Amino acid sequence: MKILVINTGSSSIKYQLFDMAEETVLATGMAERIGSDTGTLSHTTVAEDGTRNTTEISEKQMDHARGLACIAALLTDETHGVIKDALDIAAVGHRVVHGGETFKDPLIIDQSVTDEIEKNTPLAPLHNPANLTGIRVAGSVFLNVPQVAVFDTAFHQTLPKQAYMYALPHDLYDTHRIRRYGFHGTSHAYVAGKAADFLNIPLEQLNLITLHLGNGASATAIQNGKSVDTSMGLTPLEGLVMGTRSGDVDPAIPFFLSRHLDMSLDEIDAIFNRQSGLKGLCGENDMRSVLEKAATGDDHARLALDVYTYRIKKYIGAYTAVLGRVDALVFTGGIGENASDVREYCCRGLSGLGIAVDPVRNKDTAALPRRINPGNTSVAVLVVPTDEELEIARQTQKTVLK
Ligand code: ADP
Repeated sequence: MKILVINTGSSSIKYQLFDMAEETVLATGMAERIGSDTGTLSHTTVAEDGTRNTTEISEKQMDHARGLACIAALLTDETHGVIKDALDIAAVGHRVVHGGETFKDPLIIDQSVTDEIEKNTPLAPLHNPANLTGIRVAGSVFLNVPQVAVFDTAFHQTLPKQAYMYALPHDLYDTHRIRRYGFHGTSHAYVAGKAADFLNIPLEQLNLITLHLGNGASATAIQNGKSVDTSMGLTPLEGLVMGTRSGDVDPAIPFFLSRHLDMSLDEIDAIFNRQSGLKGLCGENDMRSVLEKAATGDDHARLALDVYTYRIKKYIGAYTAVLGRVDALVFTGGIGENASDVREYCCRGLSGLGIAVDPVRNKDTAALPRRINPGNTSVAVLVVPTDEELEIARQTQKTVLK
């Protein structure tokens, strides 16, 4: 069965075509700068022996519909194609950022589903409209192919009320559904499953703290395989320090910025979402640059690293208290998978909680699930590469076969 996974942003479409027999990637690519003067499309096919072949296209005034039509043409054309006909695709799986409280599982998209995603737009004003555009254009390009929505929020719908309610007037929840939702659900779910396989223990018996550290970052407490708390909230702004997002702050700071610095809501939004985090602290949002600068003795970069890892350490402590017993701490995402120094700083001083990192194992760079704790500590510390696209493909397949 072939499944096409699509992740539509406001100016981009990322995609991967999977053959689910062996869960192999047949083609992958990304259309970018959609809506600007010239859109670009980079399309890579992967042959059976792993050989990759990339084609680049650029086109004036590419919109989402045209971008996806180009992708469909490349997937099926004689030179670059990996399938004969768009109907060879059994289903299209869409990443949808905000499923609100309605969607606890992936499902086949019909009018009622798109209406409901639309209703959740106020909760994710940047993401849900783009995801809906992806669904609409995929429906017209891949006619008669079932479309499945897989929600970033769904995995966290098992949070208990005490974890998802904010201590705000109850009416804000009753009327406007203001609560913690959590994001990165497909990644947390995927690495939790992989950790269970690696440890050879059923996921339903495992308590985990999963740390997804990419450009966005979030921590999740998983009890007996279910998400019971997570650091992102109503929006992906809350929680850990991120590339350009502040994570947790005193909620009174926006009042101060408005009253004393006369800033507008849009300016404050831009500060917290785009000018804060690592970038705000040291001018760099990419962890590789932060680490390079810190290594040269740059004080701001060093501080950014300290604030970043200290926040993670606090969440590890909090979620250890939530779970009572932690079987494994799991690092994933571009930073979690690759930045050994970050992993070490996050775990430093946690031996009282049974958490430590072995310096030699921590330096291993194999892109496979691996253990990095020393032999004599009680909590397994794992590095597990995430694969959100594969998780979406698996969930899409499961949904259409139901
Ligand atoms: P996204 O959330 O956009 O999917 P990624 O999961 O790819 O992002 O993570 C991007 C982050 O991973 C960036 O901060 C980048 O610097 C960091 N990263 C990638 N490779 C390395 C590396 N070798 N060492 C340190 N950080 C890395």
